[in-house]
Amino acid sequence: MVNKVRYLLWGLGICLVFGVACRDKKTPVLHFCTRLKKVKISGRQPAFAPNYIRQWGQHKEIRVFLLDSARPISARLLRTAAAWSKYCNVTFTLTEKKPLSDIRVTFRSGGYASAVGKEANESPYLNGPSMFLEGLDTLSDDAEFTRVVLHEFGHAIGLEHELQKSTVKIPWDTEAVVSYYKDLYKWPREEVYRNIFDQFPVEKPYEEFDSTSIMVYAVPAELTIGHTFSIPWPKGLSSTDEKDIGIWYPIKK
Ligand SMILES: [Zn+2]
Repeated sequence: MVNKVRYLLWGLGICLVFGVACRDKKTPVLHFCTRLKKVKISGRQPAFAPNYIRQWGQHKEIRVFLLDSARPISARLLRTAAAWSKYCNVTFTLTEKKPLSDIRVTFRSGGYASAVGKEANESPYLNGPSMFLEGLDTLSDDAEFTRVVLHEFGHAIGLEHELQKSTVKIPWDTEAVVSYYKDLYKWPREEVYRNIFDQFPVEKPYEEFDSTSIMVYAVPAELTIGHTFSIPWPKGLSSTDEKDIGIWYPIKK
């Protein structure tokens, strides 16, 4: 099952979702989005990183079913996700009928993760959760709520992690990264590679790395060679996100 992980700010400490208490509760809590284990690298063609294999049809209305949360969260969730729809032809609506849903959201397990695009309607996600937003329905931090929802709905419309594009060159200290995740999350080496190091082929016009994309996760300096490189967590859609999603799902016919 997907690892449940939660970042406290780098260098300050980390806590597991529903696990040990954070070391500093005054510090904003940030989350790492793990890749679902079904995801395979070979044969996929993402860029931006959009995944062409998992892309929905144009002008798709993605019907969202909430598996286990009270209704009040639904309006907030869809209102936040709708930021994508301002720049592309994909929309999100709530459905009360699970068999008619395209994506299914749980707030009770799985950390933060999502199937990529149409993968949501493939086994094993078809009859269960395809998006995991563990604890987000009770999260009062608006900025973090927005970041996570935009990121996971980015996956839901077919986007991969920006950092894993083949054109991205991060000066990772490989063994430091492997050791870090082994110590803190008990990730085996292959889990670290799937979430951090594995890269996808990339195609124009999406090959340029956008370090401010909502599909980026933070790069702490401590895990890079010489501690000279870092990327902060994004706060929302970048201008490149807005432009590129409009190319992928163009509003104009
Ligand atoms: Zn992610």
